[in-house]
Amino acid sequence: MRQVIIVGSGPAGYTAAIYAARANLEPLVVASSVEAGGELMNTTDVENFPGFPDGIQGPELMEKMQAQAERFGAEVLYDDVVSLELEGDVKRVTLGSGTVHEAESIIIATGSAYRKLGLPGEERLSGHGVSWCATCDGFFFRERVIAVVGGGDSAMEEATFLTRFASKVYVIHRRDSLRASKIMQERAFANEKIEFVWNAEVVDILGEDTVTGVKLRSTVDGTESELAVEGVFVAIGNDPRVHLVHDQLELTPEGTIKVDGRSSRTSLPGVFAAGDVIDPTYRQAVTAAASGTVAALDAEHYLAARGEAGAPDVYDDEISGRPEADAA
Ligand code: NAP
Repeated sequence: MRQVIIVGSGPAGYTAAIYAARANLEPLVVASSVEAGGELMNTTDVENFPGFPDGIQGPELMEKMQAQAERFGAEVLYDDVVSLELEGDVKRVTLGSGTVHEAESIIIATGSAYRKLGLPGEERLSGHGVSWCATCDGFFFRERVIAVVGGGDSAMEEATFLTRFASKVYVIHRRDSLRASKIMQERAFANEKIEFVWNAEVVDILGEDTVTGVKLRSTVDGTESELAVEGVFVAIGNDPRVHLVHDQLELTPEGTIKVDGRSSRTSLPGVFAAGDVIDPTYRQAVTAAASGTVAALDAEHYLAARGEAGAPDVYDDEISGRPEADAA
């Protein structure tokens, strides 16, 4: 049986692995078969991760984090978790390959998934002009006219990146001001290939076999119009990936895993959570990494307390913050 298994391999998962490995907990990281490295694998320049004054490519940053975790003894498995049993002293992790791993503690760092518009044309034309990842699919849109939907940092980043390929990029946003940070806004405003379509919602994605346009509805007066584009990149945010745990752990109203205060402790003893899956607000690589640190330290304390007490009830005392319980 493992002392700790980490589910997820973004900045939170790998940072938890670095700390857990350095604490000799020999963590197993289940990194996912297709999405290993998390969302930064789909990013180009990361300019705001401290320590890289000239920026670093997202995939390179994740390779470095993985190498750092492995250097201290973390084992990384490229497989998907299909189910988790989190109750009780022994946690069970079942993988796509059918293998079941057991651990005394689990760190959930499953991140978040791209949010969808929820339109029928979106599913149907996914991979045929509709995409959620500019760095994955931008190359296919050389000299094409395309649209990015959204008004946050992701939309600005995607739109700016896509101007390397596309002849024109419309940014369709449902309001008349952006949510994106100032620097990302300014970069997009200064780009001659980007044109903003304000106060518009995409109500349909048009095309039989490939995208030919989008149907828009004005959020001001409800009038509908069509815009001819050959590609649509949806960049409207993310939802926490909680499908493996939603029936076992308490969630917040925002849908993230509920943790106790500033800790990573979830509603079940020995189960910790870190990164975007607990954070509806900040969602940065560096805050996810910090959160991974917290989870590894919490797991370490939990395991130490179990080792000393031979029972996990110290957890309950910690979570309720009753110092007198320690003395009892
Ligand atoms: P976000 O900040 O939540 O922005 C989502 C955008 O999509 C908002 O403009 C929102 O409109 C719009 N939207 C949401 N649902 C929609 C729908 N159903 N139809 C149409 N539009 C919809 O998400 P994000 O841009 O992915 O950014 C998430 C976090 O990651 C942020 O903290 C951001 O700073 C960070 N991030 C940072 C970088 C970077 O620093 N390089 C890059 C990417 C992301 P409203 O504004 O009207 O709500």
